[in-house]
Amino acid sequence: MKKIAFFCIPAHGHTNPMLPVAAELVRRGNIVRFYSFDEFKEKIRATGAEFISCDSFLPELTKQEEINLKNVSITEMTIQDIRITLGMNDFLDKEFKSFNPDVVYTDSVCFWGKLNAWKHNVPMVVSTSTFAFNQMSSGYMKNSPKEVAGLIFGLPRVSKELKKLESYGYHVKNLFSLIQSDNNTDSVVYTSYSFQPYAESFSDHYIFVGPSVFSKVLPQKAKERPLIYISMGTVINDRPDFYGKCIAALKDLNVDVIISCGNAIDREKLGTLPDNIKVYPYVDQLDVLSKADAFITHCGMNSVSESLYMAAPMVLYPQTGEQYAVARRVTEIGAGIMLNDDSSEGIRAAIQEILNNKAYGAAAVTCSADFRVCPGTAGAAEFIENAPHSSDGIDIISELNKAGAKFQLLYWLIVIIAISLVGILVSWKYVWIIGIAAGILSTPIVRAVQKRKYARLLN
Ligand code: UDP
Repeated sequence: MKKIAFFCIPAHGHTNPMLPVAAELVRRGNIVRFYSFDEFKEKIRATGAEFISCDSFLPELTKQEEINLKNVSITEMTIQDIRITLGMNDFLDKEFKSFNPDVVYTDSVCFWGKLNAWKHNVPMVVSTSTFAFNQMSSGYMKNSPKEVAGLIFGLPRVSKELKKLESYGYHVKNLFSLIQSDNNTDSVVYTSYSFQPYAESFSDHYIFVGPSVFSKVLPQKAKERPLIYISMGTVINDRPDFYGKCIAALKDLNVDVIISCGNAIDREKLGTLPDNIKVYPYVDQLDVLSKADAFITHCGMNSVSESLYMAAPMVLYPQTGEQYAVARRVTEIGAGIMLNDDSSEGIRAAIQEILNNKAYGAAAVTCSADFRVCPGTAGAAEFIENAPHSSDGIDIISELNKAGAKFQLLYWLIVIIAISLVGILVSWKYVWIIGIAAGILSTPIVRAVQKRKYARLLN
């Protein structure tokens, strides 16, 4: 029997996969104390875990901060994450002394969970609610220029907040080390080894347990006419414009449609609904997906995993860089198509393609079978109970870093020689152009070198 402290940020997509793991750990006789927020109280208590409310530590937000969070600004989320950590410091110091957990199980972006595990020297396992990202797999993300600009301009604010952590006894190298797990961090990832991009680059500190869901029911697709399910998740779901286009696209097709639109939408705005379309603020998504023949999704990791688990092919409509990575992987396995044209004609064409071409459904069925033989919540529970883990395999990422560093040295030596030769033989006037070009090209070239090395290491 172990005492296990769970920590998560106030978000459905991050909390949901931790719940079946909590239930499994309780079932096996462990004591689970789950530090979370009132919104999730009932769900957490239903697992048998002890719920500890952290609502009083949520900072008051300005209007602008609220807007930034709603738009999933990474800068704002980081700043608020640090503020909550500082606000909880005294409380968690006391909790770690009195509860004295054997293991901390914390969401990958829940700073107060990670930082307190480090500070109090408690073995930590990270709950990864999206793909595991490292320098190889993060190449799957495609951040919009707005996201990149937000990150760059937000850096001074973030580093100012990060500095405050030091005086509370939290030692952080940099932001990156706080948000991305390395190959020495025990991590549970809720997908299969075969669906995870570049899975081989992760050490055996990682376990790929498959989707963490309560339902074990099999997909039941037999019915009179196809069912289309539409959801933009629980965060950026205030999209009446998009739901309106979906309604226009699907109202005249011989299909049933269920839209989950969240609480923020005034459903009157969607007008009178045709008979074949139903709109709800929240649905039992797994149940709907078990019957759905196509899912129009924003590509949150949980939604996509649940869809594949229930063998529902997808129309992919990612809104963030991370969601784009998930969508790209779905297209690679052939279980969905990107919605490149989000007009009602484009939506109708995408749905017809999914319904008419059985290959998408077949690929989803194959992935569902793969997910169902993963270690699951029992595997996750065992991994957490036995933390910390050791690894005897080679660390591919550190091999790649070594290869990258060696190549960089050679690369810049050649650039310096080239600059000197041009300067001496032609003119010094334009050598800065070579320097800038070399700087711009260095990242993609090093990436390509590392990719080749990766392929060689796998062989
Ligand atoms: N969800 C649900 N009912 C709904 C909408 C969403 O149960 O009507 C759940 C869904 O099953 C998933 C989570 O909310 O577990 C959404 O997580 P995801 O990572 O897909 O997206 P996010 O909401 O974090 O953007």
